This record gives sequence, C-alpha cells and structure tokens, in this order.
Amino acid sequence: MFDNLSEKLDKALHVLKGHGQITEINVAETLKEVRRALLDADVNFKIAKDFTNSVKEKALGQNVLTTLQPGQLMVKLVKDELTELMGGDAEGINLSGNPSVILMSGLQGSGKTTFSGKLANYLKNKKTKKPLLVACDVYRPAAIDQLHVVGEQIGVEVYSDRDNNDPVAIAKAGIQHARANGHNVVIVDTAGRLAVDEEMMAEISDIHKAVTPEETLFVVDAMTGQDAVNTAKAFNDRLDFDGVILTKLDGDTRGGAAISIKSVVNKPIKFIGTGEKMDAIDVFYPSRMADRILGMGDVVSLVERAQEQYDEEEARKLQKKIAKNQFGFDDFLSQIQQIKKMGSMKDLMGMIPGAGKALKDVDIDDDAFKHIEAIIHSMTPGERSTPSMLNASRKKRIAKGSGTSVQEVNQLLKQFNQMSKMMKMMQGGSGRKMMQMMSG
Ligand code: GDP
Repeated sequence: MFDNLSEKLDKALHVLKGHGQITEINVAETLKEVRRALLDADVNFKIAKDFTNSVKEKALGQNVLTTLQPGQLMVKLVKDELTELMGGDAEGINLSGNPSVILMSGLQGSGKTTFSGKLANYLKNKKTKKPLLVACDVYRPAAIDQLHVVGEQIGVEVYSDRDNNDPVAIAKAGIQHARANGHNVVIVDTAGRLAVDEEMMAEISDIHKAVTPEETLFVVDAMTGQDAVNTAKAFNDRLDFDGVILTKLDGDTRGGAAISIKSVVNKPIKFIGTGEKMDAIDVFYPSRMADRILGMGDVVSLVERAQEQYDEEEARKLQKKIAKNQFGFDDFLSQIQQIKKMGSMKDLMGMIPGAGKALKDVDIDDDAFKHIEAIIHSMTPGERSTPSMLNASRKKRIAKGSGTSVQEVNQLLKQFNQMSKMMKMMQGGSGRKMMQMMSG
C-alpha cells in the first residue's frame, strides 16, 4: 500500500530523522521534498501546497529548531498533518434506523457490489445485525447475478426483482421485505455507469429521495487518483453523501485519493477495501493510515486482526493438547488457517514498523503455506497425529503426492519437532529452563 509515497517521504524526512544539524535550510528543503512526494502520489497541487505550508507554520510556531529533537518533532508534525488531512478520527456508520438503510453509489467497476457484500458480511459478523442486500441495477442482469453469488458466499439474503425495471420501486420493495422478515439493515446496491452522467445521477438521487437512507456511501476505486477525487465531488454535489469507501487499496495505489478526498468533499473515508475476498474490508483510521504511509507500521491493526481470529475455546483445547503431548499436524494446519484468515501476507507484513520498506521489492508469496499444507494433506490421519511413524518410503510417497521434495518433507518434520519441543517447555512451566537455553 502506497509503497512509492512511503519511500519518497522516508527519503525526504531522512535528514531530519538523522542526527545531523538541522537548520532552516534543510527544513525548507525537506518540506519541498515532502511536497514533491505528495504531488507524485497524485495529490492535488493546492492540497500539497497547503499541507507543507501548514507544517512549516506549525514548525515555526513551535520553534522547532530550538527543541531537543527537532527531527522527531518535524516527523510528528508531518504525521499529524497527514492524519488531519485524511479526517482526524475514524467515523462509524449510522445504523440507528430499523431497518437502517445504506445506499451505495459510485461508478461501474468501482467495487460497489463487492463492497456491499463485504459490508453485509462485516455487519453480520457483529451478531446483532441481520442484513439484507437489495439489487437495484436494472440494466445489467449480470450485476444481479453477481450480488446473488456474493450473498450466497456470505450467507446473506439478496432481494431482487428481475421483472421490474424501476430501481426506486425495487429499493422500496426491498425495504418492505426487510421489515417483514426481521432484517435490521438494508444495503441497496445501485447501477453505476462508466463515467458520471446525468441519467445515473438522476436515478440515484431518485432512489435517495425515495428511501431516505440513514447512510449514503460513495464507493471509489483508489487506483484512479485525481479522477477519484473529481468523481467524488460530482456525486457529493448531487447526493450530499455521508462517507467514502476507498476500494482496491491493496493494489499499486499511489495514495493521492486517500489523502485528498476528505478535504475536497469534506466527508470522511469510512472503510477501505483491500482485496477481492469478502473479508478484505477495514475501518479507515486516519492516524493508523498516516503511520503506514510514513513507514511506521500499524501494530494496532495487526493486533486487532489477530484478536478477531482468536478463539478462546480453540486456544484452550490447543493448550490441553500441548500439555498432553498430543499436538499434531492437524492442529498445525488449523493454526495456519487462522493466520491466513488474518489477511494477505504482504498486507500483514506491511503493518510491522519498518517491514514495509524492507520488503518493498520482496515478492511475498501469498501461497507461502501451500507446500506445507500440501505435505500435511498427503499424510494419513495417523501420521498427522504421530509424525514419528513416518519412514523413508512414506516420506517419498508424501513428497510425490504433494508435489514437493523429500527435503521439504524432512524440513517440515524438523520444524514441527522443534516447535513441539518448544511448546512443551513453555507449557511445562519450564520457561526458565528455556530462557537459560536461549541465552546459551
Ligand atoms: P461495481 O461495478 O461497482 O459493482 O464493481 P464490482 O464490485 O463488480 O468490482 C469490480 C472489480 O473490482 C471486481 O473484479 C472486483 O473483484 C474488484 N474489486 C472490488 N473491490 C476490490 C478491492 O478492494 N481490491 C481489489 N484488488 N479488487 C477489488
């Protein structure tokens, strides 16, 4: 995410982060570099200029040069300004209605349908919400099909009416259906066009007037940079929407849209989309995003993701197994599944401070676990729980069955043994022994 911008800002702030003497000249030079980095990331010229002017003013106001650590203070000022520009605090969505109606708007291909599904799934996982998806794209039958596929995938009901070509009537009927069936959230997916046109705007504002949504969201593809900002402005002039959804932030996004959109339409970014899968959705936290852009990582989000996946019941069972020396490859496999649920590897690594930069050019294979999984799947249930029974000929068969090599099988077994030993030590209260061992 925003690799290029991060790298350029890192370079720009390098002098200040170091311990060299900081003078008025290199502060000015740094700010010039920061501005250039923002422009390269497709941030609007005026926003970039205001940004650096504001940082400069604050730096002067705080007599930055006379402070103990001027470099760090400058980096903080840049961070605070970035956070402010992207919206300050995180803003949730309004779910006060019963049902609460959420209207989705945006151009075709922006990721509206995908996001409708992600949001439904996100709310459904909150347990107290029972969402209904409503398909209002009457022009493309494929769009209705797509929403049904998404609904099926996440186990959320989809309301559609293929015989009706009036989106306003469908939206209203959808809300009726929700009332009658105990749905407390209705997500209305609408038709987009390839570019802003009057007909689409008239249609979405008709739906908007007819259903008076609690929340109108504008979905936009972050990869489109300045265009995203212009489209946002056009939709906002007409709809006065409540929040922005930035999609495709997992791609090679330059970052301009994320940074500029709030100040142009004065509406917060509420969620981001970071992949095609249904769980690739994140609440947008301006401060955490600023941390990421400045290469400071996002440990808070990383821990939250881990917590979301943490299942106390499972953890307790696992602990018992370890204590009884019953930890086998099946448990190993389910641990891998849990890690995978947290998101793509590259995405996770990017949340570790400094790692984003270090790993920029490293191609992290999202299928990093593929070989391991294949090897385990090729074992018999007995072998998975008692790996010591694997002999040379079985190892050969497993390597063949999993499309790997005997070396890889051996390596996995070795790692597994080491891990089991370590776990037993931690369990058996011999933490001290282990510490001694590790300290040599
Ligand atoms: P709509 O026309 O606005 O409903 O857009 P879709 O939901 O059909 O999405 C258009 C394309 O973008 C599809 O291929 C989606 O899989 C893809 N897409 C949507 N959101 C994301 C995202 O956050 N990341 C990535 N990489 N692709 C996305």
